[in-house]
Amino acid sequence: MTTTKTGTGSQLIDRFGRRIDYLRISVTDRCDLRCVYCMSEDMQFVPRAQLLTLEEVARIGRVFSELGVSKIRITGGEPLTRRNVMEVFRQLGKLDEIKDLTLTTNGSLLKKYAGDLHRAGVNRINISLDTLQEERFSSITRTGKLHRTMSGIDAALNAGFERIKLNAVILKNRNHDEVIDLVEFAHDRGMDISFIEEMPLGVIGDHDRAEAYISSDEILDILSQQHELLPTTDSTGGPARYYRRSDNGARVGFISPHSHNFCDTCNRVRLTAEGRLLLCLGQEHSVDLRRVVRASPTDDAPLREAIITAMDIKPKGHDFDLNSQPVIFRHMNSTGG
Ligand code: SAM
Ligand code: SF4
Repeated sequence: MTTTKTGTGSQLIDRFGRRIDYLRISVTDRCDLRCVYCMSEDMQFVPRAQLLTLEEVARIGRVFSELGVSKIRITGGEPLTRRNVMEVFRQLGKLDEIKDLTLTTNGSLLKKYAGDLHRAGVNRINISLDTLQEERFSSITRTGKLHRTMSGIDAALNAGFERIKLNAVILKNRNHDEVIDLVEFAHDRGMDISFIEEMPLGVIGDHDRAEAYISSDEILDILSQQHELLPTTDSTGGPARYYRRSDNGARVGFISPHSHNFCDTCNRVRLTAEGRLLLCLGQEHSVDLRRVVRASPTDDAPLREAIITAMDIKPKGHDFDLNSQPVIFRHMNSTGG
């Protein structure tokens, strides 16, 4: 167990010397889409009674901020489908220690919420968009409508966020031929874009993940036919590695769990919608924080202690292997991607 005090407050540090200053919170595992790389067609969701309440989510976020976490990302499932979720943003937006309050969303409800999110203190948004083609969008998301995400992107662009980034999961022979178009779409509108290698989380029953694998380097090769891309040391506090176009400086990121392992610099932990603190995306080590907050509704000391102690079981890294059956049965929607 390690905490150190510095001029900027205490810090959470794990056994490998990594400082944890980033919390991702999944506020729901439910979603209005069924993306083929994320979920199976028939999903069992956590019964609502087992979810953390929004007050509990905000309380856990506050205690993390007191332990030196300065960045919180709200994710899911689709976070904007959770009823009254704006209350969480408002509470977390008031915390002085949180310098970066961000959201990952599929964009389908942003038309309604973009302005409120910005007013609540959300400074950056990631919007997932894998294709610009209507039929492909319906096929990849199984149920979605491209125009809803597009109007969500427009609303976000008008709301005044510091930065908006598109995230695209690229699958070979499904959408890899669109990477140049996606870059143009993002950069024409002043947005960053990151390409993500698919991770083997949960059984999805759609495609063979090994067959669909396309590495970040292959994507970089395709993009290089159109643009000169120069590596940078930029960081947005997450796992993305960034390149910049030599013509206009616009940014392209790569999240490459297979080809460029990022575990050595991992600075984050995840809270699931039912209150499990996951110490690694690709391992099952976790601590039940819901039990702790409910056992001690007014005194934060046990919660603080449970979080500090949890750092001792943060694993060194994930063991993703596309060629074997998934060892992590948890889907990305319950993990909080
Ligand atoms: N529903 C929101 C969204 O789609 O942006 C937030 C949750 S979603 C689980 C977060 C991110 O994880 C999305 O960018 C999604 O594309 C990505 N994702 C989902 N399943 C994945 C997988 N198996 N491998 C890699 N990325 C995945
Ligand atoms: Fe829903 Fe996001 Fe998963 Fe797609 S990636 S099914 S939008 S949680």
